[in-house]
Amino acid sequence: MSLWIINGNVWNEENGKLEQKHIRVSDGRIAEVVDAGVIDTGSAEVIDAAGKLVSAGFIDMHVHLRDPGFEHKEDIVTGSRSAAKGGFTTIACMPNTRPVIDKPETVKYVLDKAAEAGLVKVLPYAAITKNELGRELTDFAALKEAGAIGFTDDGVGVQNAQMMKNAMALAKSLDMPVIAHCEDDSLVEGAWASEGEFSRKHGIKGIPNESEAIHVGRDVLLAEATGVHYHVCHVSTEQSVRLIRLAKSIGVSVTAEVCPHHLLLSDEDIPGLDDANWKMNPPLRTPRDVQAVIEGLEDGTLDMIVTDHAPHSAEEKARGVDLAPFGIVGFETAFPLLYTKFVATGKWTLGFLLKRMTQDPARVFRLETGRLEQGAPADLTIVDLESERAVDPSTFLSKSSNTPFGGWELKGWPVTTIVDGKIVWSE
Ligand SMILES: [Zn+2]
Repeated sequence: MSLWIINGNVWNEENGKLEQKHIRVSDGRIAEVVDAGVIDTGSAEVIDAAGKLVSAGFIDMHVHLRDPGFEHKEDIVTGSRSAAKGGFTTIACMPNTRPVIDKPETVKYVLDKAAEAGLVKVLPYAAITKNELGRELTDFAALKEAGAIGFTDDGVGVQNAQMMKNAMALAKSLDMPVIAHCEDDSLVEGAWASEGEFSRKHGIKGIPNESEAIHVGRDVLLAEATGVHYHVCHVSTEQSVRLIRLAKSIGVSVTAEVCPHHLLLSDEDIPGLDDANWKMNPPLRTPRDVQAVIEGLEDGTLDMIVTDHAPHSAEEKARGVDLAPFGIVGFETAFPLLYTKFVATGKWTLGFLLKRMTQDPARVFRLETGRLEQGAPADLTIVDLESERAVDPSTFLSKSSNTPFGGWELKGWPVTTIVDGKIVWSE
């Protein structure tokens, strides 16, 4: 079966311009990309993308699908639908489910359910330690064999340095990456907001930046010692950026990611103590940290943008800031947020944003997708860069709608998402 996407605007990296192209998709791959003009599409299905952006599908290497075990928040099917609506064609899901993804059969459960859904590509991470308790390593070889793409105890930091070093050495021997949620528990102790203006104003205990950066510092040293590919999750502090930049400069195999909310919001934006949709982990840091992660992303210290899509039910989030769980949903707002605030304002080129959401995650995790070129998988996202509307959480396809971005007027909404040549979502 053949599909033509005609008249769409494709970013040309060489000249930094959008160019009108026709794209032919056949057998799930991009068969050809030609200059727009008169064309005979024969009996093929045709999508007219005139006036719209056509990009390689977005890739999100840090998401929580909550399945198995927390299906009241999200499941693999609804999470996949939500991702597709956000323009994502590949997502990598975290193992802090119930049971934790720490056994081959749980990896297989995720892969089978995702395949059955037949929407986006779902790549499972497996846990570093059994039940993410930090006490005993999982069976890395068996988990790799089952289809896990890396190891992480996301949700918590691995507290013990020797445990992390053993994990890295084992992962290295299997040519697998270690992905770290960096957080030293002894420095956090029950706080939920960052140490800054907000915590001072409200007289609450703050989370210091060192709680994250101390693990980054430890782990880049361990990565240097073991030679593993070490990937830092959701970088949020100036200190972490500085350490990763230094480690990269001396050739340590370290990569890193940053979330839209850490690029766009600081602790000073939190409206008060009533709304737990501003509670996430890592917390919103100071304006100085926001500036540092933006600069880190711009100079390549931080390699990619991820959403850390973290659905929670309205009841859970209504428990008040102290008791509510950490996290916000991210799929359905990520691109419009970043396009509106960074590209439409002239701070970034469109090409830069697309690269950090497609090519760069593909490069870091050695994925075949992430490129719009002949021969690549036909994972494509069509975006209406002109359409403008307010974020309405009641329209989310996710089971959850915990976001601080409700009501934000944004442009650049995805309209069609294609995975392996199949339309998986269309407005
Ligand atoms: Zn995390």
